[in-house]
Amino acid sequence: MKDSNFLKEHNARSMWHPMAHPADSLANPPTIVTGAQGVRITDIDGHEVVDAVGGLWNVNLGFSCAPIKAAIAAQLDRLPYYSTFRGTSNDAVIELSEELRRFFAPDGLTRAFYTSGGSDSVETALRLARQYHKIRGQAQRVKFLSLKKGYHGTHFGGASVNGNANFRTAYEPLLAGCHHIPAPYTYRNPFNESDPAKLAQLCLAALEDEIAFQGANTIAAFIMEPVLGAGGVIPPHESFMPGVREICTRHGILLIADEVITAFGRTGSWSGSRHWGVQPDFMCTAKAITNGYFPFGAVMIAEDVAQVFEGDKTGAAAIGHGYTYSGHPVGAAAALACLAETERLNVPENAAARGAQLHQGLLALAEKYDVIGDVRGGHGLMCALELVSDRAKKTPIDKKTIGTLQEVAYRAGAMVRVSGANVIMSPPLILTAADVQVILSALDQGF
Ligand code: PLP
Repeated sequence: MKDSNFLKEHNARSMWHPMAHPADSLANPPTIVTGAQGVRITDIDGHEVVDAVGGLWNVNLGFSCAPIKAAIAAQLDRLPYYSTFRGTSNDAVIELSEELRRFFAPDGLTRAFYTSGGSDSVETALRLARQYHKIRGQAQRVKFLSLKKGYHGTHFGGASVNGNANFRTAYEPLLAGCHHIPAPYTYRNPFNESDPAKLAQLCLAALEDEIAFQGANTIAAFIMEPVLGAGGVIPPHESFMPGVREICTRHGILLIADEVITAFGRTGSWSGSRHWGVQPDFMCTAKAITNGYFPFGAVMIAEDVAQVFEGDKTGAAAIGHGYTYSGHPVGAAAALACLAETERLNVPENAAARGAQLHQGLLALAEKYDVIGDVRGGHGLMCALELVSDRAKKTPIDKKTIGTLQEVAYRAGAMVRVSGANVIMSPPLILTAADVQVILSALDQGF
């Protein structure tokens, strides 16, 4: 490894970072991570902390998962690549498809289409949704609905359904026909409603209203995260997603669950959809499918949607979409090992228990510090604090103060993520009770 000063200097000189101003890494050099074990990362200066970000919501099983590493190495040795475009396949991806089918059959999802990551998975689901309606003779169903504050990756389709201007404005015009409804965000919403159950009903009414306005028979799909993640960890009331499902079904609109964060245990269930008792038509997955060790994703497809494609006799169902790395054997081998470990360790159960502990601890911090305006969590290991400079007026805290808090927490032993006025936590799901205390104590020192 090159020395520390060389790396710091060259980081700013020769690369641009996602989601950052290109000039920013000179003024605010990033933390250069050089090693990791378990749930801890070590930076270039040798400082070790609990990674309460979990890589980027993806390293669910931590950084030392030996079975996944061994599976990757063995697969690289035996068959490092082969395509799954028409005419070829590979054994690893076939085995994985059977496993995914077993895991997601309770959600009614029985086929997989493979991708290289979350944005690819979203793009795939949006495209297949339009194609589904074309196969059924409803080519006019082209529009997409989604939630404000939702995050669906960065491809043009995903950016078009994204509900945050930060990811849209510089790249507009985006896809036509994408419309957004208010998110069930209890702390701030246009209805001034603080009761989550009532707010869910208001948001569902807004969805009905938008469908009537657009014309139900022009809409292909509604896409949502079961718990909004990047938008600031916003769990809806338990009535919300089932309500969306009912409305979509009644209007012939497909429901795409964007589970790039929530699948594989994050919410304390195998999937966010299952957490709310909902069967989506498509489920987008990526991130934790390989524990972040290999770029990979899968879109799971509902049995009845699959039958429409498979029953087509006209050629309309031929899929003119796919990636060089769709069904990559190394990704498939990593995913197989990852699923086996997730099941063996009963990771969703630990996520639920440690998530409840973290959430309770954050609520206790909010009793102590007025700067905490809102505490969100309670559904597995995804939590957020929304910080304010004035609690009564809910004035969002300034960038500098939240940056300082993040820095102090880091020095005190925990890496947390800051997004706007939110401190976001999505640690590995193998976290122990003692690790939760480290995160809470680091935050306590930050306030
Ligand atoms: N969808 C959701 C819900 C996400 O959180 C993300 C990434 O954070 C994406 C899609 C995009 O995934 P990727 O960054 O792997 O392209």
